[in-house]
Amino acid sequence: MSIARQVLNCFKFACRSANISCRRRLCTSQRTMTSRHTHSKRIEGLDKNVWVAFTSLAADPSVVNLGQGYPDIPPPSYVKQALAEAALVDRMNQYTRGFGHPSLVKALSQVYGKVYGRQIDPFKEILVTVGGYGSLFSTMQGLVEEGDEVIIIEPFFDCYVPMVRMAGAKPVLIPLRLVKVRKKTITSADWFLDPDELSTKFNSKTKAIIINTPNNPIGKVFTRDELQMIADLCIKHDTLCFSDEVYEWLVYRGHQHIKIATLPGMWDRTITISSAGKTFSVTGWKLGWSIGPEHLIKHLQTVMQNTLYTCPTPLQEAVAQGLLRNFDLMGQPECYFSSLAEELEGKRDRMAAIVKEAGMTPVIPEGGYFMLVDVTSLNQDLSHILDDEAYDYKFVKWMIKEKKLAAIPVTAFVGDESKKQFEKYIRLCFIKQDSTLDAAGEILKNWSKV
Ligand code: PMP
Ligand code: GLN
Repeated sequence: MSIARQVLNCFKFACRSANISCRRRLCTSQRTMTSRHTHSKRIEGLDKNVWVAFTSLAADPSVVNLGQGYPDIPPPSYVKQALAEAALVDRMNQYTRGFGHPSLVKALSQVYGKVYGRQIDPFKEILVTVGGYGSLFSTMQGLVEEGDEVIIIEPFFDCYVPMVRMAGAKPVLIPLRLVKVRKKTITSADWFLDPDELSTKFNSKTKAIIINTPNNPIGKVFTRDELQMIADLCIKHDTLCFSDEVYEWLVYRGHQHIKIATLPGMWDRTITISSAGKTFSVTGWKLGWSIGPEHLIKHLQTVMQNTLYTCPTPLQEAVAQGLLRNFDLMGQPECYFSSLAEELEGKRDRMAAIVKEAGMTPVIPEGGYFMLVDVTSLNQDLSHILDDEAYDYKFVKWMIKEKKLAAIPVTAFVGDESKKQFEKYIRLCFIKQDSTLDAAGEILKNWSKV
């Protein structure tokens, strides 16, 4: 037999055996896969996610994307430079302290020491995690248990409900209500929390209330009086407060961000959550932190040490340097914490003008980088879309396809009972270059043209 034929035979034999063993493996796997192995109870009903659904729809480059919240303006060059330099130092490419890289927790304690007006222990009162998401997750897993109830204010950042459920607890929802006033301009301050209604939500099972100020999606910045009312209820019912403040620096003129943890009696019962993604416009860096008293933070640290253990070292080093640089500038116009808000205020106003010109009604946000828009006046008939979905879901899908403009449907941020109240709203993100906002403006201006 020629060498060539021998090689060919060998090849055929190898293929046949591979095929047989493959088929055999398939049979074995089919035999062992029973319905016992579907999913765990704790993720039951949590398979739908607005970001998964809508970011892929908006990925087409011909779509003007005001959907998922991320800046298309560049982050400050010094944080990018700090990251590049950190990666050149060999030891920065290895694991660092699990609960937070020492230079980052020290920088955080410096900045927040000033904001809170109290000393914050960098090692015992701070936990650095993977984004605001990681902070929320370690908070729920570390402090909430089976049978607890957690109060959530609608509209809410969508992951709160699944995270409460995954901790085995029950979300108890309460909507913000629109004050009935006849005004030309509606702002997020016109949406309020009814104190009597809120007090009925507290009971002996209540473990915590989650607040989000400035709020995503509506942009509400809770006032001192509103926070005091919430704090009084937390103290009266001896509950915790999880305060998501990832947009803490993005507050517009005439409004002030107040940390509920600074109100009397609240430090000991509050976990405050923030994020480097929002602080330095680097959402892809996914670094976040929780700040609170040692007796609470230690439980979040337990979750961290047994799940993710630590966060990327060079990213933490770069954020630490960014914080220190701005710590020195705090109170001055060049400080990024305030200069970004100033830049965004112009974009907010531009966005509002564009939306009004197109005949729609914006809810002017007091903070954050999102704007709710009431699309009722467009009278867009979507009855031909038969999907069993809320109007805003159909509207946004239709708008992406037909108008090449992406937004996020607001009923993603509320429970079933409030869907009717919010289904004529969409959320637009305005931390975008002027050219992106102009492109959106063109689409809206030409809305009724085919
Ligand atoms: N909380 C709120 C209110 C948010 O909008 C987000 C999304 N950016 C997060 C938490 C999560 O933040 P991160 O991207 O840092 O995980
Ligand atoms: N927080 C961002 C938003 O609200 C992004 C959330 C996400 O992509 N999961 O748009």
